[in-house]
Amino acid sequence: MDSNGKTNILGLTREQLEDFAEAIGESRYRGRQLFEWLYTRRATSFDGMTNLGKSTRSQLSRSAVIRGINLVQQSFSRRDGTTKLLFELADGLKIESVLIPPATSFRDTGRQQDDEQSRLTLCVSTQVGCPLDCKFCATGTMGFFRNLTTGEIVDQVLQVKRLTAKSPTNIVFMGMGEPMLNYDNVMNAAGIMATGTGIALKRMTVSTAGRPDRIRQMGDENRRVKLAVSLHSAVDATRSTLMPINRKFPLDQLLDAIEYYYAKTRRRVTYEYIFFDGVNDTERELKALIKFARHVPCKINVIPYHSIAFTGKRTSDLPFTPSPRVEQCVRELRAHHLTAMVRSNAGDDIDAACGQLAVRLSRQPRPVVHPSS
Ligand code: SAH
Repeated sequence: MDSNGKTNILGLTREQLEDFAEAIGESRYRGRQLFEWLYTRRATSFDGMTNLGKSTRSQLSRSAVIRGINLVQQSFSRRDGTTKLLFELADGLKIESVLIPPATSFRDTGRQQDDEQSRLTLCVSTQVGCPLDCKFCATGTMGFFRNLTTGEIVDQVLQVKRLTAKSPTNIVFMGMGEPMLNYDNVMNAAGIMATGTGIALKRMTVSTAGRPDRIRQMGDENRRVKLAVSLHSAVDATRSTLMPINRKFPLDQLLDAIEYYYAKTRRRVTYEYIFFDGVNDTERELKALIKFARHVPCKINVIPYHSIAFTGKRTSDLPFTPSPRVEQCVRELRAHHLTAMVRSNAGDDIDAACGQLAVRLSRQPRPVVHPSS
């Protein structure tokens, strides 16, 4: 509910819009029409909703608003065509999304699948900041502010569709934040995007630092979005140093949940892995990774380490440097019959690559402490 007593309908699912229509004395069919106006035709006001009739439209303006997010800045990488978008939310907080053009997602083009050539990927944020504090990630340095609403997640896609002639073909929930800590809004947003904007659920990927409970829930609900897990080490001691969440949910719990998810869905899982020099690129680490990856059918996405020095962290705070042995490690994984792809560093010249999304702290109020991190 808005401060003026009106409901912000941007972000309501089709069923919620049907309920809303009924609540204001209209038919449920009107709710389905609203769904199409909001998400397929991307209406920003009630005036243009011509098939609704004048009295319905004035009733809507009395009881509802369509309040989205505002684009405040765009940065474009001349090198690879990646665009970073900065949005302001209604409460003044800011988030970023990244649009990654075709054929730039992977470095080893020889191994690209055909559809890579036409793939336009939008990387969306799910939280303002992030509470997980992974030691190599820029977003972590911002602290955590709040979860995004369903509408704020969906509107990142709607805004991009308004901006560009070509529509995104793939959505990755890999921007700021941990999607599994905002599970309901993320899944609602995915559902709305699939029905409203025509991007199939199987072309959406939810990436998590590893919440076993939510991974199981995705299995139980047989979610059709893809699951990616930011692994970064298959050795508990190492992973706990890199990702504090591993202390709460160690690898055996994570793997149990992944096996459960696979048994329920039969969907291949993606593991994200950044090779850090001398940390998780050793023989022992590779052995552990190979063992871990053998449990369910998977794909390993190797992400180059992108600098987060721009966040103002002193270099002494950042003990990690990119591994010089990436190619060697990838060869070894492939030799063990694992699918491993090296992602490109698309967007790193504009600080828009994986893990580089952080809005300057001076522009944000103070973060809050998140209870469930
Ligand atoms: N919280 C979710 C999604 C956001 S992060 C998750 O952890 O999966 C998206 C991806 O970027 C993750 O795989 C994350 O590990 C990776 N990443 C974070 N910091 C990075 C950096 N500095 N360089 C490269 N990748 C990074």
